[in-house]
Amino acid sequence: MKSYDLIVIGAGSGGIAMARRAAEFGAQVLIIEMKKLGGTCVNVGCVPKKVMWNACEIENALQQATHYGFSAQSSAINWPQLVERRNSYISKLNNIYERNLNKSNVDTVYGEAQFVSSNTVSVNSKQYVCEKIVIATGGRPFVPPIEGAHLGETSDDFFKWSHAPKSVAIIGGGYIGVEIAGVLKSLGVQEVTIICRAQRILRAFDEDIVKTLSAEMSQQGIQILEETETKKITKSNLGLTIEFENIKNLQVEKLIWTTGRRPNLENLNLQSTKVQFTQSGHVKSDKFQNTDDPHVFALGDIIGQFQLTPVAIAAGRKLAHRLFNNEPEAHIKYELIPSVVFSHPPIGTIGLTEQEAIKKYGAEHIKTYKSEFTNMYYALSQKKPKTFMKLICSKKEQRIVGLHIIGKACDEILQGFAVAIKMGACKSDFDNTMAIHPTAAEELVTLR
Ligand SMILES: Cc1cc2nc3c(=O)[nH]c(=O)nc-3n(C[C@H](O)[C@H](O)[C@H](O)COP(=O)(O)OP(=O)(O)OC[C@H]3O[C@@H](n4cnc5c(N)ncnc54)[C@H](O)[C@@H]3O)c2cc1C
Repeated sequence: MKSYDLIVIGAGSGGIAMARRAAEFGAQVLIIEMKKLGGTCVNVGCVPKKVMWNACEIENALQQATHYGFSAQSSAINWPQLVERRNSYISKLNNIYERNLNKSNVDTVYGEAQFVSSNTVSVNSKQYVCEKIVIATGGRPFVPPIEGAHLGETSDDFFKWSHAPKSVAIIGGGYIGVEIAGVLKSLGVQEVTIICRAQRILRAFDEDIVKTLSAEMSQQGIQILEETETKKITKSNLGLTIEFENIKNLQVEKLIWTTGRRPNLENLNLQSTKVQFTQSGHVKSDKFQNTDDPHVFALGDIIGQFQLTPVAIAAGRKLAHRLFNNEPEAHIKYELIPSVVFSHPPIGTIGLTEQEAIKKYGAEHIKTYKSEFTNMYYALSQKKPKTFMKLICSKKEQRIVGLHIIGKACDEILQGFAVAIKMGACKSDFDNTMAIHPTAAEELVTLR
């Protein structure tokens, strides 16, 4: 049997990046995948989500068109057509991944992998021995153990819907719930309700940003029920009845659970290795992606930190450099990682929230700059969604420790500013940069 220098379990964002980079360095690599190439991001995450979000942007542009003198009217979306085209785009991506793995000389086996021991993996009743094995098995939606929970669906199921229901409840106020709620409302679902246990949606995000988004979502007709505990789900004439601890029942056609994700590790037989786990039940690994077993490495969502595609990809590539290109210090830094919530309008965020900065430095040692305005894009329309920007600086040298923005184009604006902040930019660096006028981004270099 062919012998391998590396076996990667899971052909998602991190696994594929690791496998291909290691093969570029001459390693003999096998990758094992039990579902579709591309993993969560391509099949049930970033990609289908962004296609749906783009559709909402087009719907928004059609609404604006009349204010700019066009006769175009926003009309109901042909949901089945959108889903069919989105799915065929995803199939193309699956094929591209397959071709790229072949081009890189990575062998692919389809099936569910299990450890037999630290250096042996079994798949489809065949065993493979290898000195280096990477776990990149990602995660899946978590459904809480509530009576009738099985009547609800998950984000994975949402991507299979072929029509827009009349009413949907989303239980869970994290970014996935918020994004799905925005898409549903924009694409024609009449009643959309987010239900969350916490005091507010997106509780890890900056408070002012969340206030701006919540107000905007309410304007759009999305109902947000905060501090609301779900007790029970039952079937009803309309579809489902959701019973709560503290408020009256809600009737909806469909329910989506967005109550977090769990790592895919139960079926890996990790008891046959020395791998240890964190308190949250993820695989324990250090900044070099080492687990407690010298043969086994872990990266991506399975380690439970910054569960984002670019983080998984970068971790995979760095590990390949370290193990197969003689770069013993190669690792990613799990700090100042920019991210975007594809809400309506989108949020961009990097670094500390104001609350975190106060906790870390003390209120007297930070200075915050804020601005709220209407993007000129909406100058001719009655509806005027807000743009809000916040810069948080540590007072001493005015180094930027946090940037939080919400508004049209904020998803695209953040990346360039993230480079500057990662390089240690101070407020004066922003001030000394000439504004680009008229844009929304210029506000960030003219804040006072
Ligand atoms: C709805 C949604 C929207 C998202 N949007 C974004 C976004 O906009 N931007 C962003 O950066 N991130 C986003 N994410 C997160 C992103 O998808 C993940 O962080 C990323 O996919 C993690 O990559 P990974 O390689 O760790 O795991 P995955 O991509 O999940 O890949 C793991 C693979 O392992 C396979 N596998 C599992 N167990 C086994 C086994 N025993 N044997 C063989 N194969 C196995 C799985 O089938 C899967 O294909 C989103 C996620 C969701 C759910």
